[in-house]
Amino acid sequence: MEFLVIPQKLRNRCPSTDHESIIVFRLCFCDCDLRRHGSTVHTVTGPHAGRSDDDFGAGLFEDFLRFEKFFIAKLRVGNNYQCGPAVKLAVGHFFFSSFVSRLEIIAWGLIECLRMIQLKSAREIEIMKGASKIVAEILLELREQCREGVTTADLDRIAEELIQKKKARPAFKGYRGFPACVCISINEEVVHGIPSSKRIVQTGDVVGLDFGVIYDGYYGDAAMTVPIGKIRPEVENLLKITEQSLYRGIEQARPGNFISDISAAIQRCAEAHHFGIVREFCGHGIGRSLHEDPPVLNYLQNGKGPKIKAGLVLAIEPMINLGTEKVKILDDGWTVITLDGRPSAHFEHTIAVTPDGPEILTRV
Ligand code: MG
Repeated sequence: MEFLVIPQKLRNRCPSTDHESIIVFRLCFCDCDLRRHGSTVHTVTGPHAGRSDDDFGAGLFEDFLRFEKFFIAKLRVGNNYQCGPAVKLAVGHFFFSSFVSRLEIIAWGLIECLRMIQLKSAREIEIMKGASKIVAEILLELREQCREGVTTADLDRIAEELIQKKKARPAFKGYRGFPACVCISINEEVVHGIPSSKRIVQTGDVVGLDFGVIYDGYYGDAAMTVPIGKIRPEVENLLKITEQSLYRGIEQARPGNFISDISAAIQRCAEAHHFGIVREFCGHGIGRSLHEDPPVLNYLQNGKGPKIKAGLVLAIEPMINLGTEKVKILDDGWTVITLDGRPSAHFEHTIAVTPDGPEILTRV
């Protein structure tokens, strides 16, 4: 989903007559986009802002209507802009002298508006325990099945059958068009690998299994990286430290701490071993949506982030590379690989913050 964010001053000039002069902010809502564009906002100019696939529906657009004095238009595919209504609400303090910085502030304001952390009630957490347990059980079964000779499509089919048996629904299949139930990423693939009948698991591989379900209206999400037979000691260490960094992060998920405490703990653990922490992807809040606020970065950025409170449910998921932190996305539009081709590891749990500290929901 992408939006043009245009100051009211320019409203009369746009969108049809002066595309090239408009700064377009692409507001990204999925977890990958949040990070890919560094801190959520990506600036592109003119009508070249890419696709507009919308899995959020009108709800979020209505959120935007809380802003005033700015004209917000939905960006459509191609060069056609569909204009939204001018909106009303006080954003006077967003006025700054520089045109560009003002736009940035507006975009940030919009993002802040969308960043509504939804704390869960005890009842909701109980339901999420159910969803998370299903995720954990299926992941363990997939780990059992993940051995030399199996194809990644086989693993996905097994997952799909188990999901049906447990009367849940896959969280990833169909999400922004992802074609499978499990993201399976082997060796230099970091995350979002697409299962294929041509991709055969081999001894020496490390296989990342990232999996989620929807159960009773709530999501559970977890991941692990599985070694196949004997793997190189340095890769074995990468897996060990990545999992350890996950637990270091989870330990910090307690009331009174900040989200950045989780990020810092993960970063400390990974960087003590000189591994590359993937910047473009991160953990997230989870609940009725797969990706909720807040984002949970695996490294320190600016500020402390939101304060952690009981009722917060998070999917924490460090993605750590043996070599460079840099990654790229393959032409399939999904598979993320390390730029240097060296292996990557990924571990994830869905956790709930209780008054006494973190409770891991995706652990059987
Ligand atoms: Mg996740």
